[in-house]
Amino acid sequence: MKQEAVLDYFILNHQLRSTRDMSIFDRITQQSVYEVVKVVAGLPVFFEEHMQRMRRSAALLKVSLPKSDEEVLEEICLLLEKNRCKNINVKLIRTRIGGEDYFLTYFIEPESLSRGEYARGIHAILFQGERPKPHLKTVGSAFRDRVEAARARTGAYEALLVDDQGNITEGSRSNIFFLKNGLLLTPPARTVLLGVTRKHVINLCKSMKLQVLEELLHRGEISEISGAFITGTTVDIAPIRSIDDYTISSVENPHIQNIMRLYSGEVNAYIEQHKPHTKS
Ligand SMILES: *Cc1c(COP(=O)(O)O)cnc(C)c1O
Repeated sequence: MKQEAVLDYFILNHQLRSTRDMSIFDRITQQSVYEVVKVVAGLPVFFEEHMQRMRRSAALLKVSLPKSDEEVLEEICLLLEKNRCKNINVKLIRTRIGGEDYFLTYFIEPESLSRGEYARGIHAILFQGERPKPHLKTVGSAFRDRVEAARARTGAYEALLVDDQGNITEGSRSNIFFLKNGLLLTPPARTVLLGVTRKHVINLCKSMKLQVLEELLHRGEISEISGAFITGTTVDIAPIRSIDDYTISSVENPHIQNIMRLYSGEVNAYIEQHKPHTKS
């Protein structure tokens, strides 16, 4: 794996380590589960939901996590303090090296999308292929390398995966939503990584009275959609400007604008609720 920890320190098992020596990353195997959590104002957003999913991913690999949620939270807090930072993405990895369990906690580069890109929308490509175990959030695979190469070649921010029947199942590292005939469509739970952001979006649409259907969209139906966006922890919600040669006016879509506004409201509400309270 890439030696991808940023800033001065990371944590390996229970030890604080300098990022000057990241050779351990070279030994991380593909059978590893991971999680990425966004830290805003010193608080890991939706932390409990991420830990729950990480435990489920581990269970799919028939392993368990060697740490409690509280321990992981303490490690994140220690890293925030040592690295003197409050807004960053934190990555957690559970892996096995030479027959031993390892747990890494470290910071990664913040999302590269600029304000302008959110305002214009992103470009996405269609990519034939499926992740072998959709519910498992696991690092590195030959499939993932092929997807990344295709994204790099085309300059696309995301690749939308297409199954053998021609249905769009999910983004390679995000979940996908489409607006069609006044309804919001998203591929069914069985075909996708169950994103924390996806779940929040589905729930907030209820308060918007926007009906959400968990249904697949066929690639031939792209011309019928009036908007599309991807969701994910680091990207939040990014409207899609184009899929291959199709242009989509997602950024002007009032439903998508509403969803983006309500979602950032939920993140802010989480931060307000979990802030350490100062007594007045
Ligand atoms: C992490 C990930 C997502 C997004 O999930 P969030 O919990 O919203 O960050 C979607 N698809 C894949 C394949 C992922 O790895």
